[in-house]
Amino acid sequence: MSKKSIAVFPGSFDPITKGHLDIIERASRLFDKTYVVILVNSEKKSLFSTQERVTMIQSVTEGLPGVEICSYSGLTIDFCREHGAGILLRGLRNEGDYAYEYPIACANRAAGGIETLFLPCDQGLSAISSTIVREFASYGGDITSFLPPAIVPLVEEKIKTTRANR
Ligand code: ADP
Repeated sequence: MSKKSIAVFPGSFDPITKGHLDIIERASRLFDKTYVVILVNSEKKSLFSTQERVTMIQSVTEGLPGVEICSYSGLTIDFCREHGAGILLRGLRNEGDYAYEYPIACANRAAGGIETLFLPCDQGLSAISSTIVREFASYGGDITSFLPPAIVPLVEEKIKTTRANR
């Protein structure tokens, strides 16, 4: 397997949305192996635990060729090196995403020799983000159009238990 056929798609995935899933499905057709990596950031408070996010992503990506779900605490370029991946994959929704991603892509290439590949997001999914999902759900809004169907009840349940434990 050539080094370039292994890609890493990192993110928070809190929770995984239809936008993320679209990128993962497309990656599975482009690369021999795609690692979907949940970056563990102890300073960022997440709705779902790392293990819950791993399980959720596994459940909706089952059967996609070459897709493996991992979590990692550290630099994405170190994960890439450790797994022989030459490509870091990011989804682009708009100019804002590009402005944010460009300097990071330059730094990752300079520091790690890792190329970033941007996949333009599907036109119909550009307004979806995990942040909007969490915000909508916390006010009882309808989140069904943002998420893979199996994820909807998990988010609704999590919001309910989080509220009850406050
Ligand atoms: P991060 O906190 O690293 O931005 P996210 O979980 O928000 O992590 O996103 C992970 C990746 O998925 C990023 O490259 C992001 O641009 C991409 N992404 C997020 N939402 C969408 C979407 N609706 N369509 C396509 N790509 C998306």
